[in-house]
Amino acid sequence: MLFDKFQAMADFQASLAEREVAPFGAVTEEILSATEGVVQGHKVLLAGTNNYLGLSYDPRCIKAARDAAQRWGTGTTGSRLANGSFAEHQALETEIAGFYGVDHAIVFSTGYAATMGMCSTLAGPGDVILMDGDSHASIYAGVKLSGAEVIRFKHSDPEDLAKRMRRLGDRANQALIIAEGIYSMLGDVAPLQEIAAVKREYGGYLLVDEAHSMGVLGDSGRGAAQAAGVEADVDFSVGTFSKSLGAIGGFCVSPHVELEAIRFCITAYIFTASSSPSVIASTRESLRIIGQEPQLREKLWDNANHLYDGLKSLGLPVGPTASPVVAVEMEDRSATIDCWKALMEAGVYVNLVVPPASPSTSFLLRNSVSAAHSSEQIDMIIAAYAGILEAGLINPPQAT
Ligand code: PMP
Repeated sequence: MLFDKFQAMADFQASLAEREVAPFGAVTEEILSATEGVVQGHKVLLAGTNNYLGLSYDPRCIKAARDAAQRWGTGTTGSRLANGSFAEHQALETEIAGFYGVDHAIVFSTGYAATMGMCSTLAGPGDVILMDGDSHASIYAGVKLSGAEVIRFKHSDPEDLAKRMRRLGDRANQALIIAEGIYSMLGDVAPLQEIAAVKREYGGYLLVDEAHSMGVLGDSGRGAAQAAGVEADVDFSVGTFSKSLGAIGGFCVSPHVELEAIRFCITAYIFTASSSPSVIASTRESLRIIGQEPQLREKLWDNANHLYDGLKSLGLPVGPTASPVVAVEMEDRSATIDCWKALMEAGVYVNLVVPPASPSTSFLLRNSVSAAHSSEQIDMIIAAYAGILEAGLINPPQAT
């Protein structure tokens, strides 16, 4: 039957309801600040957002959005190719290209549309894509739609990439290589220096999804490629406005003039309405702030190190290096759900991640920090974890 394939999900949701937990789609009833809200009746510290710089609640961004709604209305009601290109969209395209020091940019309505749209359009039947095996769903969706031959290389393994490039022979220099900057679930940074070196050796084109690394890494916040010093090797940088920029939308920037023609071939750009002017205006303001206030990034990393060190010293199984995403990796689904619920009751909201959203078969308590968190708030998160350890909910902790 058509619906049979959904039964396992229906059963899983029913089992959660029996335990009175709703980790997926937990409803935020109120936002009190960039780091606090009321979720499902609990006043909680928000430690499971991607609001890395806290800009979703910055008064300057809110004012920009309000002014733009006043001036332009609430929506564009059309595609960029029809009535949906406002001066605001063009201004943001110029500014984001300038931020990256390149000449070409496309602004999309979501990050998903940007990544999926670029991956599905750049390569087509007869072309080859080499993608990291732990790529985001938007990359998987895009490469599937592309019709290209898709080869996965082992997660963040440049040697495996090189081996597969070698096997391609002459086709390697036309291949599209896809990696991310910071991987969203475990917070690990891609080895972009080594990946760029493979591209230099075998040829091809490199697309980097900087969704979680823009505003977070690099001297001027351009992301992981800037931090690795390999921006000259990147052909296409894609990213989102929904994380460090605190709004919604996506972008692709490139030094290649061909991006202007590619724009008119991306269905995820053509057949969808453009972003509301208020969204674009707050994004422009956030971009300006990111460029002018590197102290936000410094505070973010102070908080990231603080949380990572704190959870690690409790003996929790966190990843190998500190990052604004700190994931506690668990093996048992039921225990992970109990921990998530106990953290909520202790006043801390984190993300519960289950396969296939998590890489491998593990279950994650995914914590993310913001520059807007105070040091005391980071201590509260650590204390909440100490509480679940004391309650025997994670047992026994395995340090990595
Ligand atoms: N790429 C990556 C790597 C992501 O993590 C995400 C969002 N989690 C996206 C793209 C999509 O971005 P958005 O949610 O802003 O549409």
